[in-house]
Amino acid sequence: MGVIGAVREDGLGGLQHNFITARIEDLVIWSRSRSSWPATFGLACCAIEMMATGTAHYDLARFGMEVFRASPRQADIMIVAGRVSQKMAPVLRQVYDQMMEPKWVISMGVCASSGGMFNNYAIVQGVDQIVPVDVYAPGCPPTPETLIHAIETLHQLIEDGEIMRRRAATGTGAEVRVQEIPAGTSVPVVLGVK
Ligand code: SF4
Repeated sequence: MGVIGAVREDGLGGLQHNFITARIEDLVIWSRSRSSWPATFGLACCAIEMMATGTAHYDLARFGMEVFRASPRQADIMIVAGRVSQKMAPVLRQVYDQMMEPKWVISMGVCASSGGMFNNYAIVQGVDQIVPVDVYAPGCPPTPETLIHAIETLHQLIEDGEIMRRRAATGTGAEVRVQEIPAGTSVPVVLGVK
């Protein structure tokens, strides 16, 4: 019957020897890609689709992601769902800075990725000016299927180690830096350079 057949019949009892061998880094990457928790962070209409992705119909629990954390310190994925206003930009960056390392960012929808149809002074023309984006989900809004595709792409990138290699090479992720402005000044938010 073989090991797989025995496990199918008897569960773990079907294993003759209850141990597996693997490289520790493979296990770390495997667990990292399958237990990422998103920060609870929605900005506009795209967030409705993000919420739909967590419902029973789409079932993010299949990817170990059903727990949207209210505290950034317990989250390692930021899904930027919606347009980012200039006022929100520093807040978004603060939430990102408070998240655990290693952490990942998905830009959801055209507004987050490029400003979308809001080509004006009030909206950040691409959230990659604020945080390093790992995967872009296209659409207005992206459907839950599109977001799930982005999530699976991110998982693949985590498993390949591509993101960590890039961060190791550059030292600071996508090299996004935000210039702090003292409170009370009337200068517009400076979004930094990539
Ligand atoms: S991409 Fe479309 S759905 Fe998403 S925030 Fe912009 S306008 Fe709303």
